[in-house]
Amino acid sequence: MSSRRPRFAAAIACAAWMAAACFAPATRAALSDDKRHPLELLALTEPNEVLETLPPLIAEASAQGESEQLAKLELARANACRVVANWLCQRDAAAAAVVAARNAGTHHLAARGLIAEGRARIAMQDFGQGERRLGEAEALLAQHPDGGLLADVMLAYSSLALQLGRHTLMRDYAQRGLDAIGPDGAAVVRSRLLRNLGRAELELGQPEQARAAMQQAAEVARALDDPKLSSELDLELARIARNTRDLTEQRAAGERVLALARRFGNAQLEALGHEVLGLAARDAGDLAAAEVETSLALQGFTTLGMKTEERRALRELLRTQLQRQPERRDMAGAMLRLMDLDEAMDRRDRALAGDDFDARMRYTQQEFELQRLAKESELAAEREKALSASNHLRALLMAIAIAGLCVIGAFLILQRRANIRLAASNARLREAEQQLEREARFDALTGLANRREFERRLATTLADALREGGRIALLFLDIDRLKQVNDTHGHAAGDALIRAFAERLTRSVGADTLVARVGGDEFVVLLAPADATAAEAAAERICATMAEPLPVDGHTLSPGTSIGIAVSQADSDPDRLMRAADRALYAAKSAGRNTWRRDATE
Ligand code: GH3
Ligand code: MG
Repeated sequence: MSSRRPRFAAAIACAAWMAAACFAPATRAALSDDKRHPLELLALTEPNEVLETLPPLIAEASAQGESEQLAKLELARANACRVVANWLCQRDAAAAAVVAARNAGTHHLAARGLIAEGRARIAMQDFGQGERRLGEAEALLAQHPDGGLLADVMLAYSSLALQLGRHTLMRDYAQRGLDAIGPDGAAVVRSRLLRNLGRAELELGQPEQARAAMQQAAEVARALDDPKLSSELDLELARIARNTRDLTEQRAAGERVLALARRFGNAQLEALGHEVLGLAARDAGDLAAAEVETSLALQGFTTLGMKTEERRALRELLRTQLQRQPERRDMAGAMLRLMDLDEAMDRRDRALAGDDFDARMRYTQQEFELQRLAKESELAAEREKALSASNHLRALLMAIAIAGLCVIGAFLILQRRANIRLAASNARLREAEQQLEREARFDALTGLANRREFERRLATTLADALREGGRIALLFLDIDRLKQVNDTHGHAAGDALIRAFAERLTRSVGADTLVARVGGDEFVVLLAPADATAAEAAAERICATMAEPLPVDGHTLSPGTSIGIAVSQADSDPDRLMRAADRALYAAKSAGRNTWRRDATE
């Protein structure tokens, strides 16, 4: 290790100066800009050294209060953790980057942090929270557009769809990412999007399209010096080769992955490389070699705690061993049945997780639809104005002409009829407009205010309170274990529970208090005026009410809710207040649910 130090110091200097000899020009162009720390680039090839170098730099930036620098350093750490497949480390570093970037007010870095944290959580199979981070990044990018980062979010969504077995969705998201990034977008994201597109095509039974997309991805990636990406593409090429029964390519791709894994000491890649070689050996009929390679893969996955992969390798190993010992026919039948059942359960779990994903996506799409309707209603109003202006002009000209011809009487009759028709159609338009306006402000399922309406009311209520020197409080609620209700009794029961929860909540805080549904199973209560004591008393009351049995759809349920409280200060803003309540909600969930916590930092 000590002999590597001088080389590494030189590499840092080199990265800092972006010396031409260190990376291919295309890599520099793709990855180096003033929005990244040079160490983030170096993390691609020297992740362990970067991880050793960062702590003192992070401590210094933190002590000096240099938030933007701190955010960049944490992103470099998250990137290094990603390369060595340490998801816990990636999650924490990315979360720290988000906090620092928000303190510095740099939206670009905050969005990148959210994406990195979302990805880490998804890799750890924490799908709900992972998707929430991606949603936050998407919302931030809607306010501060950046095609490259939006493409990154689409990439993460498409990878998530893959994990949930939703291949059509995966292909659509990859395509949306490619559209967002444009033809000159960052090569790294572009080649990953192409990889996902290829992967989806293969799963959808289109090996030729898959190979074409993957080769395009490899072409884009060739100029980059990203070992993880290269090996991922090799793994994909191996998968396609297996599908088209090209044993030579399958083996060659496996060897390339192993070589890269050893070069960078990446245990996950090494296990994946052995897995490819094991499958290739089995396909070639060399069961002894298949057993050795698959055992190595299994060992690797077990040590890394990658349970899904461990189970997959274990299944493969058992199949090979059973094939090698035909004399154990008695055991073989039972084992094969066990494996089939295991596979079926696996598919069922993925389908259930997929249903959750669909439910959340439906909610998001509904929100977008409401925004679209609100826009259309504005346009309709403008059209109506323009139409009535031109109608007036026409009426005037007609009056002059008719006066000239002395047939004013006939004209008056005609105009009267036209006015009656116009009034009737105006009334219809107004009614439709009011309907659209209602839908744009209120949630269809519960009739409560929706997120947009809530944000509007929060902004004015907080501004009033601050002006008058008063305080307000936010209660951020999330129904406990709604997924279980969906899984056990079906989505219709889940919907009924959300409705009943909303009614009980409104009754509990009184009809004059603003209650809004701001997410799938997330609600907010706005208490104004209120201090910490009043807010805590309200939360206590709600927790007690929600714990009582509730008849829903022919079942008796006790919904339970976790609540995060934030109370405004003299310098509060709506965003910060919401984030504080969200943090407190997270703490209440972590404390075991059906309880409340108050964020004392706001
Ligand atoms: P937790 O205790 O951590 O809150 O777990 P949870 O099961 O409630 O899951 P979480 O809050 O993380 O995610 C909300 C779940 O609610 C995801 C999805 O299954 C479900 N969901 C979201 N929107 C709807 C909806 O409109 N109808 C129904 N029936 N379910 C929804
Ligand atoms: Mg919940």
